[in-house]
Amino acid sequence: MTYKELKQEEECYVMPTYGRYPVALDRGKGARLWDVEGKEYIDMASGIGVNCLGYGDKDLVKAISEQAGRLMHVSNLYTTAPMVQTAKTLVIFSGLEGGKVFFANSGAEANEGAIKLARKYSFDKYGEGRSKIITLKNSFHGRTVTTLKATGQDKFHQYFFPFTEGFDYAEAGDLEDLKKKAGKDVCAVMIELIQGEGGVLPLDQTYVQEVEKLCREKDLLLIVDEVQTGIGRTGSLFCFQQYGIRPDVVTMAKGLGGGLPIGAVLAAGNCSTVLGPGTHASTFGGSPTVCAAANAVLAKVNNPVFLEKVRSKGEYIRQNLQAMKTPAIKGVRGMGLMIGIEVEAGKQGEYVNRMLEKGVLALTAGSSAVRLLPPLTITIEEIDEALKVMKDVFGAA
Ligand SMILES: *Cc1c(COP(=O)(O)O)cnc(C)c1O
Repeated sequence: MTYKELKQEEECYVMPTYGRYPVALDRGKGARLWDVEGKEYIDMASGIGVNCLGYGDKDLVKAISEQAGRLMHVSNLYTTAPMVQTAKTLVIFSGLEGGKVFFANSGAEANEGAIKLARKYSFDKYGEGRSKIITLKNSFHGRTVTTLKATGQDKFHQYFFPFTEGFDYAEAGDLEDLKKKAGKDVCAVMIELIQGEGGVLPLDQTYVQEVEKLCREKDLLLIVDEVQTGIGRTGSLFCFQQYGIRPDVVTMAKGLGGGLPIGAVLAAGNCSTVLGPGTHASTFGGSPTVCAAANAVLAKVNNPVFLEKVRSKGEYIRQNLQAMKTPAIKGVRGMGLMIGIEVEAGKQGEYVNRMLEKGVLALTAGSSAVRLLPPLTITIEEIDEALKVMKDVFGAA
C-alpha cells in the first residue's frame, strides 16, 4: 500500500491521538530507514530514543528470535534465566549496592512503580501523612493518570480529572524553592537529570548534588527518572553516574529493550525490599523475550569503548552544529547522543518537517528545541549525511 492508502485506513481505524509525520516506514538497517515508497532516511530519532542499536542488529535479532522460539512468556509466577540476568547486570553496573529490580513494560509504568515504592517506604517507616512527591517544573514522567500529575507542566493536567493527589512542583535548578516545598508531608523527590520532552535541558551538577544532600537530611527518596537518559544515551550506562550522585531509585525504559517494550525500577539497598510479595505486579513485566533483548542491548552498550564512542559522536555532532554560523541555531546542548538545538520558539516543528522532507528524522522537545536521539550505533558517515541536511535546513553558509 502507498502512504496515501495507509493513511486513509489509519484515519478510519486508529484513534486520532497522534499528529503523525507524513510518512509510513517500512524497513531499517543501521541508522537508515526506508518508507513504503522506497525513500531513504537517516534516523536521528530512534523511535524516541528506543532503538539504541539501530535497525537489524544481528545479535539483538538473534537473541529475540531464539528466546521467542524457546520460551516467549511465562508470567512472574515463575523464574526465568534472562530475567535474572537483566536484573543482575543492572544492579552490578549501576553500582547501587544491595539494589534490586522490578520489571514493568514502559516508562510511565516504571515511574508508577517508583511512586508506589516511595510512598510505601515512607508509610512503613513513618506511618500515614507523608506521601507527597516533589517533581520539577517542565518535567515529563508519563501518560497514566498518576504520572501525568507527576509531570510538572499544567498543559498535562487537563480533561482527565480527578488526578492522583500528592504532587508538588519545584523550579528546576532552584534549591531554595525545593527546600521550601520539602515539608513534613513529603516522601520523595523525582527528577530527570536532563529534561527530555521538556526541551533537552540538563540540570546543573551542583544543584543535583545539593538535592541529593537535602534528600539524605530529610530521608526523602531520590528518584531519578532515566527513562530517556539511561542505557548509554548520555555516554554512561546511567546519566546519574556522570552527576556524582547515588539515587535511591532509578527508573528506565526506552532504550533498555532496543525496540521491545520493557521498563524497570531499580532500587538501592536501603529501599530494595519495600515492595514485598503482593504489593506490586505486572503480567508481562520481565518476560524472557524482552529480557533476552535487554541482555543483548546491555552486552553491547555497557562497554567502556562503546560508551566513549557515544560521548565522542555526541561531541562531534554538537561541535558541527555550533560551527554552523546561522541565526536559526540559537544554541546547542545535551550530553552524549541526547542533543537539543535551540531554535526560535514555535519553529521547531517546521524545522523537523523540513528535515524529514530532505531525508532526516528528528524530534521536537519543549517549546523551542529540535531534539536528536540517533541510534547509539550511528556511524560518522551517517552523522555527516544528517549534518549536511541540517546545514541546509538551518540555512547555514
Ligand atoms: C518517555 C518518557 C517517559 C514515559 O515513557 P513511556 O514508555 O512512554 O511510558 C517517562 N519519563 C521520561 C523521562 C520519558 O522520557
